[in-house]
Amino acid sequence: MCGIIGIENNEDAAVLTAAGLLTLQHRGEESVGITLSGKGEMRTFKYMGLVSKIFNDEFLLKKLPAAAAVGHVRYTTSSKSSLVNAQPFQISCIHGNISVAHNGNITNFHEIKGMLLKSGAIFNHTSDTEILLHLIAMSKGDLADIVASSICKLDGAFSLVILRDKTLIGARDKNGFRPLVLGKTNDSYILSSETPAIEVMGGKYVRDIEPGEIIVIENGEIKKSFIYKSSKKQNTCIFEQVYFARPDSVMFKHTVKEARMKMGEYLALQMKDIKADIVMPVPDTGYYAAIGFSRISNILFENGFVRNYYVGRSFIKPMQNLRDLIARFKLRPIREVINGKEIVLIDDSIVRGTTSRRLINILKEAGSKKIHFALSCPPIIDSCYYGIDTPSKENLIAANNSIEEIRKYLDIDTLTFLTLENLIKSCSFCNGRDVKKKDDFCIGCFTGKYPTKIPNNIVKEEG
Ligand code: SF4
Repeated sequence: MCGIIGIENNEDAAVLTAAGLLTLQHRGEESVGITLSGKGEMRTFKYMGLVSKIFNDEFLLKKLPAAAAVGHVRYTTSSKSSLVNAQPFQISCIHGNISVAHNGNITNFHEIKGMLLKSGAIFNHTSDTEILLHLIAMSKGDLADIVASSICKLDGAFSLVILRDKTLIGARDKNGFRPLVLGKTNDSYILSSETPAIEVMGGKYVRDIEPGEIIVIENGEIKKSFIYKSSKKQNTCIFEQVYFARPDSVMFKHTVKEARMKMGEYLALQMKDIKADIVMPVPDTGYYAAIGFSRISNILFENGFVRNYYVGRSFIKPMQNLRDLIARFKLRPIREVINGKEIVLIDDSIVRGTTSRRLINILKEAGSKKIHFALSCPPIIDSCYYGIDTPSKENLIAANNSIEEIRKYLDIDTLTFLTLENLIKSCSFCNGRDVKKKDDFCIGCFTGKYPTKIPNNIVKEEG
């Protein structure tokens, strides 16, 4: 999963893009990159680690008097985590200097890469995004047409920001798997994965980039916007609202926070026979669902975990062999809240099951009397090929075990998953009116049925 940003026609493009990326930090902690463009020059800065790495002497001293920028935060889903695969990718080709930042996974990557290799293309990265650069470099026409004809060849998930000189282009795949929104600040337009980054950059949300749309922006004006490939239905990733997006992000006219509260409310209705002393969230994604649960059930909301916010993914990765130790310092229980209590514990999902088991052990060590574990999505029974780092099917606990087997493995009193129907209802309301239908979402990891063809040779790498 990744976060992308673009801004044009703004002399503060460098700093604003960095600020926007900080707001999208939750979408990727492995690397950060910014391409700056101004006065006929283009330069890209990339670092491994958090966005804070960008605020260094190299970037601050060497930054161009940039008028436009694109930025990227990365969390590997399709290739090796290394600086060479950090984005944006900047190239120099017959069409000039071009920089691309991508969120999603291109599912026919191997097929297109094979064709490009046969025609003599040379690859520097192992990322799927590189094929797009080759397709752009080999096409003819004006930049918007080049982008359209190139991305028409791609399958899967891609939201893109592309920069050439002063021209900023945004594009979304025809299914609309990953979000991309348009904002405006004074004389500049902004493109972002999520709405809060637009606000941090001083702008206002204008609209979503539509699935299958390309938008071309220059000198503070929308020069062109068109649907390059239409689709009868869109398939926005429903898991963005369960887990990935920020709670203050606006998706489908409501905040993700509202959707998560609805998930909790529906869980409370599903579990109406459960009596407990407190309902508590697993920080942070279980937070609003637990509030929604408490509202409907009248069970007291309590925060029984303290999360250590200084433990990032980049710190955890090299220490995977110390998982138990990490679990201990990442979340600490407040014994006074937990001891002797019957608890409804709310988390977003169960993936492998190992993290949930460790959390439950922490609660038991803190003296919990009974644990009812509730998840704000259905069992994840298959992997994601569109940019979320779920493991391969054989490592998903719900793909290989019944709910009762999972309950026994976790050693808890009850286990409840939000039904798919209730998840869709939670993510598809606006002022009491349904704005989306079941078919408008991708629900592939809950059903094993994907909206696009998944090639047999696709490699699901462990993140
Ligand atoms: S398979 Fe799951 S995680 Fe992947 S895009 Fe679809 S809903 Fe989202």
